[in-house]
Amino acid sequence: MKIRKITADCIYPVSEPPIQNGVVIVDENGKILALDRRKNHDAASLEIYPGVLIPGFVNTHCHLELSHMKSVVATGTGLIPFIKGVVTKRGNFSASIIKSAIEKAEKEMLDGGIVAVGDISNAPDTFETKSHGRLRYYTFLELFDFLQENNAESTFLAGQSVFEKLNLHPNSRATFAPHAPYSVSKNLFRRITAANPSENATISIHNQETPPENELFMQKTGGFVDFYGGFGISLDAFSATKKSAIFYALENLNPKNRTIFVHNTLTTKSEIEAAQAWSPNVFWASCPNANLYIENRLPNYQMFLDTNAQVTLGTDSLTSNWQLSILEEMKTITRFQSYVTFENLLKWATLNGAKALGFEDTLGSFEVGKTPAILLLNLKKDQRLRPETRVKRLI
Ligand SMILES: [Zn+2]
Repeated sequence: MKIRKITADCIYPVSEPPIQNGVVIVDENGKILALDRRKNHDAASLEIYPGVLIPGFVNTHCHLELSHMKSVVATGTGLIPFIKGVVTKRGNFSASIIKSAIEKAEKEMLDGGIVAVGDISNAPDTFETKSHGRLRYYTFLELFDFLQENNAESTFLAGQSVFEKLNLHPNSRATFAPHAPYSVSKNLFRRITAANPSENATISIHNQETPPENELFMQKTGGFVDFYGGFGISLDAFSATKKSAIFYALENLNPKNRTIFVHNTLTTKSEIEAAQAWSPNVFWASCPNANLYIENRLPNYQMFLDTNAQVTLGTDSLTSNWQLSILEEMKTITRFQSYVTFENLLKWATLNGAKALGFEDTLGSFEVGKTPAILLLNLKKDQRLRPETRVKRLI
């Protein structure tokens, strides 16, 4: 058995405090055999790097199937014009352009140190790429019926026929997932919950990304009422719940499963606490670059720190981002809210994401028996992310 002993100025196991001059010892398959200190080893047996070693990144929110629409939809318009742009433009591409963009985007994630992805699918376009298992995928087969209770069953059946096309690699999983509170009827929520495992599964839902979401639920006014009207979709059967959008999700989701709320740019501290009281298995996926791309706003991360929230990171799609890089998401948070420490960001980018997807058996931290990949960051002694910080995958 060929053993590698890899060391850098500092190693971050994530599951325990950083180790100065630490050594990660792995077998030929990248499985962690032990963590140790440099002084216990003959220097000639070590691979020594300047910088820090961290486990592979987990991207908890992506739409790989939208990779071909890079730079197609304008930045800074707000969510509703953005959705209109995606809906009207996504069909204008050939199958070969869509396929090659998916392959290229997957390679970008692999090269950038991402080892697992929570990926939204509306169509089967990504299924062949995912079947190779180069990354660990959790596919969320996403459904929406524009709040039309009578369309829930036909929407579900159409989604089920896409789900059946999945050719899951053994390291991957899949569930049905509701798109967002403003687009999923109660009947469809019920159908989704009944079709998913009753526990130990992960669900994803977009949440509180733009002010009109709360307006719709509080007063049945605002941009979504106009949006639906513009498409000739009636909201006559929908009445305001008089509570913000996230409560509609909480009332209709299964608290025994893991729930990833995605975006949360407008979520308040009391809403975070309400969700955490509803279930201990709540995760908050933040996609700061997509938030800047679409709405030019960011969540207030202090509220998530104050509530001990399990934050994860996501890239969203190339339709709403300039790249698919978890490191770039970490840099953006550092740039605009630099009180969030590197160690916090690292936990969000690795172990929290692995837990959210139920992949912490192999990924997310340097722990004996895991195969989390080993990434090198060229951080200086102050351990600050800078625009020029780069990631290199060593294993
Ligand atoms: Zn999304």
